[in-house]
Amino acid sequence: MTTGSCLCGAVQYEIVGPFPMMVHCHCSRCRKHHGTAFASFVIAPLTGLRWIQGEDAIVSYASTAHSHRSFCRHCGSVAPNLMPEAGIAACPAGNLMGDFSVDSQAHIFVGSKAEWEILTDSLPRFDEYPPGVSATAIPGPVRAAEPGHITGSCLCGDVKYEVTGAPTRMSICHCTRCQKARSAGAATNVVYPDSQITWLSGADKIREYKVPEAKFFAVAFCERCGSTVPRISKERGIVVVPAGAFDSDPGIRPQAHIFAGSRAPWLAITDSLPQFPEYPT
Ligand SMILES: [Zn+2]
Ligand SMILES: [Zn+2]
Ligand SMILES: [Zn+2]
Repeated sequence: MTTGSCLCGAVQYEIVGPFPMMVHCHCSRCRKHHGTAFASFVIAPLTGLRWIQGEDAIVSYASTAHSHRSFCRHCGSVAPNLMPEAGIAACPAGNLMGDFSVDSQAHIFVGSKAEWEILTDSLPRFDEYPPGVSATAIPGPVRAAEPGHITGSCLCGDVKYEVTGAPTRMSICHCTRCQKARSAGAATNVVYPDSQITWLSGADKIREYKVPEAKFFAVAFCERCGSTVPRISKERGIVVVPAGAFDSDPGIRPQAHIFAGSRAPWLAITDSLPQFPEYPT
């Protein structure tokens, strides 16, 4: 058994196993919704899910004709996705507590992974669904940018933006706040000076949540679909762009793992990038 909660704590639940599988999904919808390289889900029996509180804080967005994605209306964290036809709940691993035991792990939809992602571990990889799942893959949104332009958007398409000029850095953050906020093992972000982003649409659809006890940590998300969107930190003069939401190659590649000291026990770091226990010194 384990418990889960969103970043703000409004949504809380417990799940009881056995948990047959954890999948790391690289599809473009997961990348946009979580703003990360991939989303990790623990598959739990639907009968094993019990809401502790906050079910009424969950917003559901229909991402295809037959599927939806849910999130906390206050903080944007992804909530468990219930699939009654299959009798399962896909629970975002970044929101679960502790080191739960899962029998097997695999990367799925690797055929649609981001060009900037470095995938180096030895887990099984599948271009779409894993064997044994009789579902048809539905292509994700295609929003190609004009040549020479670097754009990004949320899953529903309401929020669109363009960045120009050179980014400051690209890092993979393993801090526990990023795990909860992105509902994933880590957050891959590209940082720019804040003058380098232009909102093309939907700036009025963005909601923000700041962790009360944090100095800076805050998240921004689309109120309609819950996708992580760029957050401008005026105090620091930067904008933090969730790399999973890019519609074109930002050019830069991940440079370091930060806050590796708090990485999720189920997400090993297997590449050769520098690792810093907290911020780089
Ligand atoms: Zn919340
Ligand atoms: Zn996916
Ligand atoms: Zn949206």
